[in-house]
Amino acid sequence: MLMPYPWQLKQWEQLRLAADRNRLAHALLLSGAEGSGMGQFALELSRYLLCETPARSAACEQCRSCILFNAGNHPDIRLISPEDNGSQIKVDAIRDMIAYLQLSNQYGRRKIAVIEPAEGMNRHSANSLLKTLEEPTLSTLLILVSYQPARLPVTIRSRCRLISFNRTDRHSASEWLRKRINDPAQTNDLLELAGDAPLRALDLDETDALHNRGEMLEDLQEAALPYADPVRIAEKWQKNDAAEVMNRLLFLFSRMAALRATEAGKSTRQSDFDAELRRVADGMSLAALLDCYDVSLKNYHLLTSETNLNKQSLLEEIIVFWQSIHNILSADDAD
Ligand SMILES: [Zn+2]
Repeated sequence: MLMPYPWQLKQWEQLRLAADRNRLAHALLLSGAEGSGMGQFALELSRYLLCETPARSAACEQCRSCILFNAGNHPDIRLISPEDNGSQIKVDAIRDMIAYLQLSNQYGRRKIAVIEPAEGMNRHSANSLLKTLEEPTLSTLLILVSYQPARLPVTIRSRCRLISFNRTDRHSASEWLRKRINDPAQTNDLLELAGDAPLRALDLDETDALHNRGEMLEDLQEAALPYADPVRIAEKWQKNDAAEVMNRLLFLFSRMAALRATEAGKSTRQSDFDAELRRVADGMSLAALLDCYDVSLKNYHLLTSETNLNKQSLLEEIIVFWQSIHNILSADDAD
């Protein structure tokens, strides 16, 4: 029997109870980080709601509805996503979806549409969806999955019941992750690097992110030298996904700041990597580290919200900033 992920049980119970009492909102907005498994959650919920003989807290997996669903053939659910990765959800797709929701349902329970990621809708698509949200059809359910809900029009957000996945239950997430990664000792490091999104942590394990993280720290050490070449370092980083690189920088800077904020002797058991970070951050002020974090965050937002930006120069800007702080430091030393 399939179930939602263990860190999603609170949200699951909340929606299941509402559905059992016939009090489910007609539009849900699932909001959280990428890699928290919300897409999967939306599917599980749909399967449960469409199931003809649901068990106590999950779909039965045996009825006609479940069999169709598992075969990817259920007529009462539709998934709407951008055609290509990174492209928009066009207004035609939303219009098709609305027409589909207005047809009577095939198996009598309800019709469901899942839009993921909801922020993939352009302005026309969102406007078109708004009309449906204002005049909901009976026995339909819209599930919007959003990783950046702030990018959705307020008019849409306000008409959906918000279900937040922002605070992952760390305990069940690490138990789940521990069994799936190469080295269980790295569970907490991976979760932290992934911003507590367990599926992202699993991806990071597969792409050897902890190793890359160490390599990036070496690059930062090199970049701190007065004659280092930011262009060359940015070129090297650019060979990886730029958003991923910035994510790692955000992690490195925030971790360095956290370590800087606690006195060396007082910190609880620290990993080798923490000791390394502490060494690199040595001599830098907390404010300077937070400034580095801010510059990276600003560029990360630019990179993920706008197209046609020069990734190389966004990365260079961070490196130059980092370098300038160290130039000031070494100038102080020379005095
Ligand atoms: Zn069933």
